[in-house]
Amino acid sequence: MIRTRFTEMFGVEHPIVQGGMQWVGRAELTSAVANAGALGFLTALTQPTPEDLIREIARCRDMTDKPFGVNLTILPTLVPRPYDEYIDAIISSGIRIVETAGNNPKPFLPKLKAAGVKVIHKCTSVRHGVSAEKIGVDAISMDGFECAGHPGEDDIPNLVLLPAAADVISIPMIGSGGFADARGLVAALALGCEGINMGTRFMATREAPIHQKVKEAIVGGDERSTALILRTLRNTSRVFANSVAWKAIEMEHEGKTIAEIGPVVTGQKGRVVYETGDLEHGIWSAGTSMGLVNDIPTCKELVARIVEGAEAIIKGRLAKLAH
Ligand code: NAD
Repeated sequence: MIRTRFTEMFGVEHPIVQGGMQWVGRAELTSAVANAGALGFLTALTQPTPEDLIREIARCRDMTDKPFGVNLTILPTLVPRPYDEYIDAIISSGIRIVETAGNNPKPFLPKLKAAGVKVIHKCTSVRHGVSAEKIGVDAISMDGFECAGHPGEDDIPNLVLLPAAADVISIPMIGSGGFADARGLVAALALGCEGINMGTRFMATREAPIHQKVKEAIVGGDERSTALILRTLRNTSRVFANSVAWKAIEMEHEGKTIAEIGPVVTGQKGRVVYETGDLEHGIWSAGTSMGLVNDIPTCKELVARIVEGAEAIIKGRLAKLAH
């Protein structure tokens, strides 16, 4: 067992988190992660309406009696989403853990705090982590440049980002981006974190509710199989490097606007990729950790392997190095 301030605060067995992933963070995966003793998050915006989110939370509760949370990502969307109503749905469902991401969660904190919800804010820079601690979030998920989805615009990988953040943040912090195995967990602990967040690694699990071909593409991909889109709009997103990603990048270089690029990068097409396994149908998020993903285990096998492997590294090789 690896106990940290994070496992204590969130009442989970292992310091491992399955963070919010658009179209992937559904009840099948989140409940499997919870049953494996880690902390899973449903993704609020994957559900078309707040009412659908209420139903998804209930479905997840039917599959686990362990703690799980809901991710709310606050980034530009092609169609405006009613964040306040999603927050109300989360609170009225009795959810006690929320992962915010993408923007300052300040407007939502009073409501969440009043309802006794613990908030983990995912951010991509030291300064945003410091601000989030100041405004009263309970924990930080610090997301390095390696990550899938939105890495911010500073491009600082975790070997520098995490210890720099650990120097100035005092609430529990987990590392996110590039983590996929036991070595990553030990490294995160050494860099000042209390655990790790994984997305891409959890996509390639038996329970992830996405097409087998997507899981196989993650296993087949390596650390160079991603592309960065939407850089010119200062809304960078790391995605699987397919023909649609290159098309979006080409349009950006031609100076096209979001109105023109939107139909190419829309999440609605990405959703079809996950449903049908047609890898070239749209944009889909994946991280550099693909270079470390070589199989499709169950969540339980994966979490146990990482925790047991980390203990073995700490008690074995590392202990022998220190005299
Ligand atoms: P969407 O279809 O509304 O938009 C597709 C992409 O275009 C997203 O990356 C979005 O941020 C970007 N975008 C939209 N409007 C923009 C604008 N005005 N300026 C710049 N960029 C703009 O998004 P979706 O796929 O339905 O996803 C819903 C939410 O989840 C979005 O906030 C998205 O960013 C986020 N998301 C997060 C991840 C992750 O891994 N963290 C992955 C996919 C999507």
